[in-house]
Amino acid sequence: MTETTATAEIAGLGLTGKIAIVTGAASGIGKGIARRLAAEGAKVVIADLNEQAAQDTAAALGCDAMGISVDVSDRGTVDAMVEAVMDRYGVIDILVNNAGWDKIGPFLEQDPAIWERIININLIGVLNCSQAVALRMKDQGHGTIVNVGSDAARVGSSGEAVYSAAKGGIVAFTKTLARETARYGLTANAVCPGPADTPLFAQVAADAPKLRDSLERSIPLRRLAQPEDLANAVAFLVSPRTGYVTGQTLSVSGGLTMI
Ligand code: NAD
Repeated sequence: MTETTATAEIAGLGLTGKIAIVTGAASGIGKGIARRLAAEGAKVVIADLNEQAAQDTAAALGCDAMGISVDVSDRGTVDAMVEAVMDRYGVIDILVNNAGWDKIGPFLEQDPAIWERIININLIGVLNCSQAVALRMKDQGHGTIVNVGSDAARVGSSGEAVYSAAKGGIVAFTKTLARETARYGLTANAVCPGPADTPLFAQVAADAPKLRDSLERSIPLRRLAQPEDLANAVAFLVSPRTGYVTGQTLSVSGGLTMI
């Protein structure tokens, strides 16, 4: 092997041809992640509750991509989605558990029905998809999972008590998933966004018109994250170049949290 060939082999992120499932990829951060992975040459499955938006997003990628409906909180639809991906591609190299939902409100006044929805989508959804996909990855002997948490998991967030609990669960789960599946050749990491400029943030900020301004003043880099900021971090973590990184939690918050 010449030095030039060796250099060419380590250039780029090494994602060409990889099969990646991104949940909640029809909007916001997930859409940004799907675009980034597709730009790196991956074949991306847009798995989202909103089937039409999933298909539109997949078509707009302009590469080999698949849009499919899934409710991550419903194991039956998760298993069907995984089956459909295996039928089409025969392998799953990457899973990004990004789908999430939130309803802001003081804990002491919040309806337990809302807690249940928050936990089911944000936490149970990650467990459902991780188990369904990791079983396939175990058979393959390789695979990498990135779970999208939140810095609310690490530092708390007023009005987001149950959401923080669900996201904290994701961070803790990721570490044990990494420990238990390393022996099968799998890695698992978490990315924790700070406030990000997406439809979910717009919905949360609708009742708090000053929220954006006050956050922009508090964030050392003086702006909210864009989906691309998170997408770059996820692309780094799912790359074979970082295949020795597992069980880690990476904050992408413009310096808002530094723990
Ligand atoms: P978003 O609302 O723009 O997109 C979320 C997507 O998830 C949507 O396409 C939605 O249809 C899909 N979805 C919702 N419930 C689903 C379900 N049960 N099954 C499958 N798909 C479902 O949100 P976003 O801001 O892009 O958030 C993406 C992730 O980042 C979430 O996990 C969120 O908790 C996390 N996050 C966001 C912020 C922020 O400020 N935007 C901050 C920290 C963490």
